[in-house]
Amino acid sequence: MCTQCDFRDALFAKGLLIDTGIDGLYGRSGVFEDVIARFDDLITRFGGGDGADIVRFPPGMNRALFEKSGYLKSFPQLAGTIHSFDGNDADHATLLGKLEGHEDWTQDQKATDIVLAPAACYPLYPVVARLGTLPDDGRLYDLQSYCFRREPSTDPARMQMFRMREYVRIGTPEQVTEFRQTWLERGPKLIACLGLPAELDVANDPFFGRAGRMLANNQRDQKLKFELLIPIESTEKPTACLSFNYHQDHFGSLWGIVRADGTTAHTACVGFGMERVALALFKHHGLDPKAWPAGVRETLWG
Ligand code: ATP
Ligand code: ZN
Repeated sequence: MCTQCDFRDALFAKGLLIDTGIDGLYGRSGVFEDVIARFDDLITRFGGGDGADIVRFPPGMNRALFEKSGYLKSFPQLAGTIHSFDGNDADHATLLGKLEGHEDWTQDQKATDIVLAPAACYPLYPVVARLGTLPDDGRLYDLQSYCFRREPSTDPARMQMFRMREYVRIGTPEQVTEFRQTWLERGPKLIACLGLPAELDVANDPFFGRAGRMLANNQRDQKLKFELLIPIESTEKPTACLSFNYHQDHFGSLWGIVRADGTTAHTACVGFGMERVALALFKHHGLDPKAWPAGVRETLWG
């Protein structure tokens, strides 16, 4: 039995998600988007008092900066690039001929200088580096973006294009670990307000290949990544809905983010999977938000 398809089929049937013919690429209904917007607002109620700078990047990022970020070393399997037509009239005729003949026309497309953002925080670090020396109390950002990851799946909670809200802290190791600790406490409270079961666990990123296994083990051993897991598709393997990542000085040294005393900045981020939390709400409370428990409705709609 395919329970993933059952839930996804139910979401399609209700019109909450709209089938595009591609696994992991969906339209969203007004009702679904309203839940996302209310959840977004709930995050702000928990984190908005911290005075983060709000920044919104588009879902595409500078390819040169992406190349420098090291993403292709760790996650080549997930990356998405943007290609485009770059030819003359003759090339155009060739393109149309290939389309007509149902041949592969994509070989003639050229890579552009834009790639798809794999996480909301990737475009941020080079921008912060450009601002110069960090202030003594560091920096805090509030981000949200559509992200792309090439991981097609029939599990509706594993999308190829989804939104990630993030808070990113940049500063001393103490400032950054305190930030993460604060969110490790806030995250479960926030999800409890939504009447959802959740558990925190140590986690690792899906680093590619044999060398990646070592990176993943190291990340777990050092407890650099935690996830707040909520059962959506299966109770045996609950889904990561919030992530709490401590990058140590990885991005600080890569991008040259330095403090006034010359030391390299540390960074951490908390990421909220917007669609995943919305899907958890639909899974646990039903497909009609009007029928959700009064406490949950009160939390979201006031
Ligand atoms: P997973 O372990 O399920 O692949 P992840 O740990 O790699 O997720 P992060 O890189 O930490 O995810 O991304 C931050 C948040 O973005 C996650 O906590 C999750 O809620 C959300 N997210 C990640 N991948 C997806 C996806 N394919 N579809 C929807 N949401 C996602
Ligand atoms: Zn991040």
